[in-house]
Amino acid sequence: LATQTHNPSVIRIGESVTVGGEDLLVIGGPCTVESLAQMEQVARHLAPSPVQMLRGGAFKPRTSPYSFQGLGDAGLTILSEVSQRYNLPVVTEVMAVSQIEAIADRADMLQVGSRNMQNFDLLKALGEVNKPVLLKRGLAATLEEFVFAAEYILSSGNPNVVLCERGIRSFDPYTRNVLDLGAVVALKQITHLPVIVDPSHASGKRELVAGLARGAIAAGADGLIVECHPEPEKSVSDARQALSLEAMVALAESLRPIAAAV
Ligand code: PEP
Ligand code: MN
Repeated sequence: LATQTHNPSVIRIGESVTVGGEDLLVIGGPCTVESLAQMEQVARHLAPSPVQMLRGGAFKPRTSPYSFQGLGDAGLTILSEVSQRYNLPVVTEVMAVSQIEAIADRADMLQVGSRNMQNFDLLKALGEVNKPVLLKRGLAATLEEFVFAAEYILSSGNPNVVLCERGIRSFDPYTRNVLDLGAVVALKQITHLPVIVDPSHASGKRELVAGLARGAIAAGADGLIVECHPEPEKSVSDARQALSLEAMVALAESLRPIAAAV
């Protein structure tokens, strides 16, 4: 298998960020890009902190078709403007092959969401893209299915894949999903790809995020992707799990001693 070697991959994102090496990758930002002012506020607050990269959805995979579906192309324009102004690379979700070109033009990393982990045509097409891919684990995907999804991208020509554990569906809705730290440890052993953790979608509640995030780093994760917002309770999506910008920075600042001890 293309994912199976013992030499950990270090993947470059944008000009100055890497993942899989010595440095932790911390990505922060809202669930959804809502406006230029919102993304400006996020970037201005996070730029001087250990958060190295921004997230924000322009094309959103919403459970209900009646929920806000994202700003689309206008959201990509906002992301790329803010990215350049604050020198922070951006990751945003791609849901369809038809969106790849526009997103690859303006984002530094393309995210495949949980709901598309086995969209094999999308994975094959991302194999032909010259940008790294953030592949999130499916809602109920086994590790074998997850690794084969990554294989689709690698075997189609793109070696720059970062795996993301974001919680798997189980019986108890108290936490939105169940963060599988066993998967993080196992994936680090059976693949050479960087593995990051999304404690926001894994928990669904902001007061659970920091604890899971620190646990993930202690388990050997190469980084985190965390949702935060200038006014968390006003987020258009996933408001309940969004951290304040202050809490985001405090979390990022608390990680270094944990990473150093792993
Ligand atoms: C997201 O990161 O915005 C998202 C929708 O996450 P997931 O695909 O893990 O549900
Ligand atoms: Mn979200």
